Amino acid sequence: MKKQTKAIRIQAERSQNREHSVPLYLTSSFTFEDAEQGRAIFADEIEGNIYSRYMNPNVDEFVEKMCMLENTEDGIAFATGMAANFAAMAGLLKSGDHVVASKALFGSCIQILSKILPKWGITTTFVDGHDLHAWEAAIQDNTKFLFCESPSNPGLDLIDLEAICQLKAKHNLILAVDNCFATPVIQTPADWGADLVIHSATKYIDGQGRVLGGVICGRESLINEIRFFSRHTGPSMSPFNAWVLSKSLETIHLRIEKHSDNAFKLAQALEKNPALNAVKYPFLTSHPQFELAKKQMRMGGAILTIDIKGGFEMVNEVSKHIQIASISPNLGDTRTIITHPASTTHSKLSPEQRAEVGITDGLVRIAVGLEAIEDLIEDFEQALEKATLLLPKEEEEETAVAE
Ligand SMILES: *Cc1c(COP(=O)(O)O)cnc(C)c1O
Repeated sequence: MKKQTKAIRIQAERSQNREHSVPLYLTSSFTFEDAEQGRAIFADEIEGNIYSRYMNPNVDEFVEKMCMLENTEDGIAFATGMAANFAAMAGLLKSGDHVVASKALFGSCIQILSKILPKWGITTTFVDGHDLHAWEAAIQDNTKFLFCESPSNPGLDLIDLEAICQLKAKHNLILAVDNCFATPVIQTPADWGADLVIHSATKYIDGQGRVLGGVICGRESLINEIRFFSRHTGPSMSPFNAWVLSKSLETIHLRIEKHSDNAFKLAQALEKNPALNAVKYPFLTSHPQFELAKKQMRMGGAILTIDIKGGFEMVNEVSKHIQIASISPNLGDTRTIITHPASTTHSKLSPEQRAEVGITDGLVRIAVGLEAIEDLIEDFEQALEKATLLLPKEEEEETAVAE
């Protein structure tokens, strides 16, 4: 069966009620027929549900679908994407271990690697993600873990997944890829050899801006190590959120195709806009890694960035004129969202750190939704035009005088 079919048809075993849609197992624990059954389940002699911090039918269904989509053996669901990212590191690393990570990461991942893990003696070297030599040069005797995000948030820089997988194999390291921006519909890093694929399910997996969630899919032996950490520290996904997210996976293929189609059309429409310094989108030929994008991504994804001339002042002006798109720090919704990373999601980074990953004061991230593309193009064009009316007035007056 195709993945589209499986994403719809995988479901928790039907109950005696013969329901069509999967029930919500909102229960903290499960019962045993007798003390012997409880003993045997705890002793791993027979399979069975115990307690929802450990397992739950809704959560297990969601994880099974995610592993199917990501082509991995096993997986674990978490309360949030950050809980998943942290558990991957905390579950597998110990004091004295070293990580090499790309600089262009989600803001909170940078905080974990640079401020939290060093408290327990785990250190990180950050490198330019696209520079394979820099990755290799940063590997030390105690390096255990490579971590990257492709495309990156918000810079849309790509990592060559085939090359980084060859590097991790050569040095016998664990590679974790945050696949949040691409989703398994666009790329499946495990196919290249990634050991762990991590998601904020809050984004395109929910796709409708309702619930938080996270998931790690990957090699069974590593997942088991992380499972020990997560079962005993408790960052579990709520059954309700799993139920919502598993339903959302029924439409993920349709949604991502439409998101990508809309984003590509908006990027093309804005590419020549005089109010912008740049438009960045993986499937525009002007993207510096266009060839790589074509090689490893099935579609361009839902996110593009624009760099508005005139910095924050003009960004603010444009934001006042935007009528359809929402101004919010989230992404991955049916509703188009604009975000100004320098003053919000990446405001905790120093100006130098922001510059290194291409976050200028004029950069706006557009998470393109599922509205009619004509309406979106018109909305952005009118907002940019109205905002720029403010700018060149003086010049215009001067020319008028000269004429
Ligand atoms: C949002 C996001 C996260 C964090 O996920 P939460 O669900 O908000 O905890 C991690 N990585 C990327 C790339 C993200 O966009």
